[in-house]
Amino acid sequence: MAGAGLSGAVAGRMLAEAGHRVTVVDARAHIAGNCHTERCAETGVLVHVYGPHIFHTDDAEVWEYVNRFERFMPYKNRVKATTGGAVYSLPINLHTINQFFGQTLRPDEARAFIEAQADTSITDPQTFEEQALRFVGPALYEAFFKGYTLKQWGCHPRELPASILKRLPVRFNYEDDYFAHRFQGMPEQGYTAMVARILDHPGISLHLNTRFSRDQAGRYGHVFYSGPLDGWYDCDIGRLGYRTLDFERFTHQGDWQGCAVMNYGEESVPFTRTTEHKHFAPWEKHEGSVLYREYSRACGEEDIPYYPIRMVEEKALLRAYVERAQAESGVTFMGRLGTYRYLDMDVTIREALDCARLFLKSRSAGHAMPALAVNPL
Ligand code: UDP
Repeated sequence: MAGAGLSGAVAGRMLAEAGHRVTVVDARAHIAGNCHTERCAETGVLVHVYGPHIFHTDDAEVWEYVNRFERFMPYKNRVKATTGGAVYSLPINLHTINQFFGQTLRPDEARAFIEAQADTSITDPQTFEEQALRFVGPALYEAFFKGYTLKQWGCHPRELPASILKRLPVRFNYEDDYFAHRFQGMPEQGYTAMVARILDHPGISLHLNTRFSRDQAGRYGHVFYSGPLDGWYDCDIGRLGYRTLDFERFTHQGDWQGCAVMNYGEESVPFTRTTEHKHFAPWEKHEGSVLYREYSRACGEEDIPYYPIRMVEEKALLRAYVERAQAESGVTFMGRLGTYRYLDMDVTIREALDCARLFLKSRSAGHAMPALAVNPL
């Protein structure tokens, strides 16, 4: 397994349980990839080192899986947004609408009110902006989405696909849970403790601070690679675009913002959001507090890739890498970086389980394991 994040750990565990000897290597000094959590020595707060990760899923098998390795504590993601000098609740719900427009509308009234502002001439929204104008109208779009999205993606919402906004619901009731999934929670001791238990199996040997390169592949029966797809080929035909995040970390005595996530909708505020990590573990009590202000920018060669951009240019390059990958044998590309897709943690785990099962089935049937178990295009 090249990569000790969720993909490598989950697939590695399944193969080890099936009797394979599994080597897991990671270039970083820690396991768990970007969901790595670490206790702050000064405050005792469990910090989501690479930004907040909230576990939510409708997949019962994945939920049972994570609970096998860590106790999950109840957690609801309730996000707030500051814009135009006021604080609102997200995702846009009846409370947001009533507060923003100074109204006391009931659900059907609010639906009609928003529909009256929406641009109904847009019948098939293609871009982020069209999707927003069609479903929430210009006022809410300007206040909550336009500036935030410019900061997050570094380009105008009319250059982004509608699919990005489709991740967010608009609700005509007071439900303010960011995710509508059946199962949600936070690992009591953090994701790194969970991944450590997944990797804790006699069939698994773990090597941190160990960079994997393609020419080492011959040493192993099969390589599961969860590093960047273009990195496997030394980016020889170009680099797939990512956004990276810079975190401005600061500490505080007491409660800085009263909630875990505060988004800033306006472009004039240079960061997208501030996260206060102790609120991700509401069952713990800490006087001190650790906060991150998040700044998004284009990912350079030495930066940590976060969000795959997947716009037209990247799609064409991705196609070229995918065609090459499909011709490979002895390696399977997995996870967010290996398949260049924005993946939530539950989907990452689901795909890693499926990938390991497919490998075991292929081996026993004498078939070749595909390099890409899912098509990234
Ligand atoms: N978004 C926004 N304003 C917000 C929150 C989200 O404009 O306050 C947009 C932004 O473009 C973001 C997208 O909606 O990338 C999806 O939001 P989500 O919360 O899923 O962001 P992610 O989990 O990708 O950080």
